[in-house]
Amino acid sequence: MQMKRKPKFGQNFLVDDAARHAIVDALGDISKRTVIEIGPGHGAITEILAGRCRRLIALELDRALAAELTFRFRGQPQVQIIEGDILKADLRALVPESETADVIGNLPYYITSEILLQLFAAGSAGLIDRAVLMMQREVADRVSAAPGVRDYGLLSATAQMNADVDSLFTLPPAAFSPPPDVYSTVLRLQFAPRFAELGVDAAGFNNFLKQCFAQKRKTLQNNLRAAGYSVEELSAAWPASMPAQARAESLALEPMAELYRTLLRTGVLPSGAVTAQ
Ligand code: SAM
Repeated sequence: MQMKRKPKFGQNFLVDDAARHAIVDALGDISKRTVIEIGPGHGAITEILAGRCRRLIALELDRALAAELTFRFRGQPQVQIIEGDILKADLRALVPESETADVIGNLPYYITSEILLQLFAAGSAGLIDRAVLMMQREVADRVSAAPGVRDYGLLSATAQMNADVDSLFTLPPAAFSPPPDVYSTVLRLQFAPRFAELGVDAAGFNNFLKQCFAQKRKTLQNNLRAAGYSVEELSAAWPASMPAQARAESLALEPMAELYRTLLRTGVLPSGAVTAQ
């Protein structure tokens, strides 16, 4: 049996013409915007963006592809191709002072979570406004899942603390060359961090969420006990409105934040940092 080789750098290039237009359309009016494209590849989306936005910065890890695009867009000063790793890029340095940028990308799927975390940090720092991102369907389903449904978990809670998420459309493997093994879904994220509104500090609450979702089959109390909190402390601080057997997967962000605030107030969690593992 012949083994199918995974393309390097997650290179599955979009070849569906309607899809590449639909992805760019999802950013809305970008005529006055700076847009950062992650992984332009052979330029399927880049070509459309270049004609629509005020300024385009495209970051490509593959040296040969970056060179190909630099040559192709040489006569278009609004387009800047950077050869580099998005995860090492300093987005603050790319976004013009006192502006925000939009982000777009048919993501390299092997680093989707890392890119999302980087974008959430950039959203919190006020650097980016919205993002249109294509990712593996299963991951997109987790990012956009509502509490109580099967796919809801740490990734959903973290994403939804940072952005309003819209799931736009799904593409079959045949939309790409070479075709990946999975379906792909395009999400739109409007960055709108909720930490201040919910009265929690970002670092502490993000860490608390990791503890709450540590093991899917455990109740929230058991996950927190495994993270080092005593039964007595937890039951003294437990909000009356929250069932003792609740699982993190069933709770909306508001009661999770309420629990965190109560635990902080009653001194069960150290202020500003939840470090117990
Ligand atoms: N945008 C193109 C398209 O839609 O056809 C290519 C998409 S392909 C799924 C992902 C692209 O991301 C590839 O061109 C790959 O070389 C690039 N890439 C992979 N890892 C990267 C990284 N760490 N930083 C920047 N680009 C990366």
